[in-house]
Amino acid sequence: MAAAPLIVGLYRGNAVLEADQPWWLREQWRENLGNGYNFTLIPLLKSLDGHAADTLLDVHTYDALPQPAFTRKAHQALSVDEWRSIGGVLNGLMRPGLSMALVEHMANEAAQWAKYLGMHSVTIELDTIPAGDDLLVGRYAGILARLLQKSQYEGFHIWVKTNLDEQGWHQWNLLRNTISYMPKDRLHVLPTFTTADEGAVWNATYQRWFGENIQALILPTKVFQAGTAGQPVLSPALQKICNAFLPYHSLKWLVSGPCLHQGGYGAYFAPIAAVHDAYRPSQLEAFLYYSSDELLRPMQPLQDQLHSSNYEFFEQDPVKYLQYERAIAAALRERHPDGGEVVLMVLGAGRGPLVDAALRAAEGWPGKLRLFAVEKNPTAQVTLRHRANDDWHRHNVIVVSGDMRDWRSALRADIIVSELLGSWGDNELSPECLDGASHLLKEGGISIPQTYTSWLAPVSSAKLHNKVAACVQFPHLELDARRYFESMFVVKRSMMFPLAEEQACFTFAHPNTGMTTNARFTERRFQLTPRLQQCVVHGFYGTFCARLYGDIYISIAKDHYSEGMFCWFPLFIPLAVPLTLAGGSTLDLQVWRRVSANRVWYEWQVPGLSAIHNPGGRSSSLGLH
Ligand code: SAM
Repeated sequence: MAAAPLIVGLYRGNAVLEADQPWWLREQWRENLGNGYNFTLIPLLKSLDGHAADTLLDVHTYDALPQPAFTRKAHQALSVDEWRSIGGVLNGLMRPGLSMALVEHMANEAAQWAKYLGMHSVTIELDTIPAGDDLLVGRYAGILARLLQKSQYEGFHIWVKTNLDEQGWHQWNLLRNTISYMPKDRLHVLPTFTTADEGAVWNATYQRWFGENIQALILPTKVFQAGTAGQPVLSPALQKICNAFLPYHSLKWLVSGPCLHQGGYGAYFAPIAAVHDAYRPSQLEAFLYYSSDELLRPMQPLQDQLHSSNYEFFEQDPVKYLQYERAIAAALRERHPDGGEVVLMVLGAGRGPLVDAALRAAEGWPGKLRLFAVEKNPTAQVTLRHRANDDWHRHNVIVVSGDMRDWRSALRADIIVSELLGSWGDNELSPECLDGASHLLKEGGISIPQTYTSWLAPVSSAKLHNKVAACVQFPHLELDARRYFESMFVVKRSMMFPLAEEQACFTFAHPNTGMTTNARFTERRFQLTPRLQQCVVHGFYGTFCARLYGDIYISIAKDHYSEGMFCWFPLFIPLAVPLTLAGGSTLDLQVWRRVSANRVWYEWQVPGLSAIHNPGGRSSSLGLH
């Protein structure tokens, strides 16, 4: 499978400006492209060289300074399209001695240029703020928040350069929290390697970046080592950490700093390309590449009618139907070893893949299946009827149109087979449907699946949290965010960092002989990872595990995980306000599954630390009809 496209940028810093050449920018841009670099960053601010750190420049003195080098021939050096591959750096903005008023003025003026020329980004160098100076980070956050607010109709993004280590994450976290969410997902981070030894151990400090909105990883020229022929190479430790980042969706790379190699900047491209080319994404990663981190509403196959494309997607799964086939085969052979006639009902048959699975499972078994395919989706019913004539004419398959809860049959089933499971197990209302169809099962008959359990873990994912906020119609951010933060989302191949071990939440067993209620309440205590000083909890990660029969499972939870199964993706269950807790501390969660005559919904809260989410199903619920 092909890896994601390799996108590498170059920032030479101030060092190699040949500003006396009117066409320097065009030449550098061409040279960069020729060396494989897809994008270029350039310094945006006026040069303050010659001004001592303690000369407090004021706005007037700054205005009187010569314009930055890129402005010369700017209108001719590159076309509008070409400017889209250029980003600007607010170089030297954090220089000590500048008043905040001047800093804001400089940032705004530079941003104006970025807008004017159509650059894709403006980068701020957070890594130049001294460690521990949180007040200063707060001030810069104020400047950026205003800039983002003012420029919300503009195309450029703000990129924040910070160190890859704990301190760098802390500064970024502080900045991001202070700015809070902004429409259009325009605030990104660029973690920077600081030494050649970085990442000798791939640990939680690095893994937590997976929950952040990373735009690119920065490899300063100084972290490259000299190879046998003197060429720049990445140390094995750096290669290891770079490798670990490769599954991160849409990751770019940025080489930055003065050229320390006589062969020029082109020499830094090859080691990055080598790491990238050696990466072989799994089939699943490649399949999902372009839908990563997309937020989807969970399906409601009971209330809505699925499309043919939904069924087609399910049917491509290489694991699910095989497991069902194995489960049905095992049930037939264990429960009916001598054969005879067995009534098997597929409840919610869709386009019929579970009927196929049942027919395959019965091959070689001495008995005879009497099959019913029950489906309430009127168009899928037509497909099933065609299939009964075309594909299953040699078998005894009867298609039943209607809701399984309403169908009355003189014959009752020895085995009912269904797949009504959502990403969180019961969240597509399998319990209600199967309980409603319990009259179809013989006494002593079985259901496949026999049980299913939802699982939960707290996660850090500022990226997803931001995306939830971005669901609110631009630019009315304040208007209805609650509705989205009180909903659950299916997330394909998401970038989340789990902060604790997954725990079981709700379990349902079929047949539900006592017809016990499907309402549930649970209280879970999670032990947050002690490997981080601070854990920012943005929400929870929801998965499920279903025991089809005996020891045959389908699962997207760690428990009995089904390798290669891709027709379910985890849920993201947000917290409206992220919680910052100390690493190693405990986190309590209360979750309700509430049931009324018409609807089912979930409510959740972190007692004492969060408000209750979705009380009374005010923001999201699942329709029973
Ligand atoms: N079994 C198919 C498969 O594996 O590809 C379809 C699975 S799909 C997740 C669930 C199917 O159950 C949908 O076709 C839906 O229309 C159907 N369904 C859901 N609730 C139902 C109900 N109460 N009665 C009949 N069919 C139902």
